[in-house]
Amino acid sequence: MTPTEIWGPELYGDPCRQCGFDWSISTEDAIGIVAGFSHRFTELLGENAGSISHPELSWSAAAYVSHVADNLWIWAQRLSGARLSGVLEVPGYDQDLLAQARNYNENSTGAALWALSTASDLWQESVNAALAGHVVLNHATVGRMTTADVIRAASHDGNHHVWDVERIVAYSKA
Ligand SMILES: [Zn+2]
Repeated sequence: MTPTEIWGPELYGDPCRQCGFDWSISTEDAIGIVAGFSHRFTELLGENAGSISHPELSWSAAAYVSHVADNLWIWAQRLSGARLSGVLEVPGYDQDLLAQARNYNENSTGAALWALSTASDLWQESVNAALAGHVVLNHATVGRMTTADVIRAASHDGNHHVWDVERIVAYSKA
């Protein structure tokens, strides 16, 4: 299969031009960054309504957290599917359609943070099992993805959206 979509450092720059994510970090450090998402978003949003937003961004703060949670859940499920059923082909998903279907912008801070904490735990379990099983996925649009690639993609996704929520919180206080 020929990849039709670029991702990672080719798409965002290395380090990421916006959130500064370093794509050359170790798999272990990338997992550690994901483990820290709950704490970082809680620190940012603990006393803020999830509905706060920024004029340049279409999602609310809670919507970003909800997206990071669903993204972790989706990839945890895919890695588990590969390991348990041997199905390595995975499709893409439309994050904006999912946000619309799940009404992310209506989520409270508490609901979004709870989902993130829960998804993060499941993701850690799934990636550790996938690393041990040497899972390599074949993504419909980006092509071959090792478990380490999946881990870095998730680590960058959440890191990037921490940066988005930092902008939202700063704007709401301005
Ligand atoms: Zn980034």
